[in-house]
Amino acid sequence: MNINQVSDSVYVVAGTNVNWALVSDGSGVTVIDAGYPRDTEAVLASVRRIGHAVSDIAAVLLTHAHLDHVGAIPTLVEQVGMPVYTGAEEVRHARREYLQQITPMQMIQQLTTYRGARWVTQTLHAVVGHISTSIPSATVGEESALASLPGGFVALPTPGHTDGHTAYFMPSEGVLFSGDALVTGHPLLRETGPQLLPRVFNHNESGTLASARSLAIEQARILVPGHGLPAHQDLPSLVAALRPA
Ligand SMILES: [Zn+2]
Repeated sequence: MNINQVSDSVYVVAGTNVNWALVSDGSGVTVIDAGYPRDTEAVLASVRRIGHAVSDIAAVLLTHAHLDHVGAIPTLVEQVGMPVYTGAEEVRHARREYLQQITPMQMIQQLTTYRGARWVTQTLHAVVGHISTSIPSATVGEESALASLPGGFVALPTPGHTDGHTAYFMPSEGVLFSGDALVTGHPLLRETGPQLLPRVFNHNESGTLASARSLAIEQARILVPGHGLPAHQDLPSLVAALRPA
């Protein structure tokens, strides 16, 4: 497990081809996204590794309800019982009132390249037995609740990758948690650097691009993406360098 401290309070953990983040204020922890189901033990271990008990988790912020971001949440809800906050529309997705996710057929189509076949194998291993995970306790992260969590956050609706995708900004340390609205790498991408995920993952491609551009926040100087390495660079210049799809 690779834990990368990117600012005073923010730790980024690389799981199975996906990141989650931990924000500590000394006594409590906010968890942002939660890896694949197979990453559950690693999520719990990462909280302990930064010096906290799992019971210190004050809330989970969910950028969107894809399987590679919700993995540890059922276990955390059971063990800790903390709230799970996401965007208003994404609450419905998290509860699986509908599903906007790569289909089995679209995954099979990835098998034609070495890069794709390796990713499919890793993904199947990471989700086996948990394909139908849902988060029935997901609720809307209201402004005042997010502001008072360890770290303190502002929700940024960023529809496109999913209709309810929500990024989070932490003004106190200038950290932007972009989820899958803006990434810096992925096993299916050839290059690293600020870009969108491959089209097959995005429910609405033009919305995904517009949302990525909306993240050019002046005060944001560290990017923590859902996939790829964190970037210590201001968001306006990262967004200006967005790699065309
Ligand atoms: Zn996603």
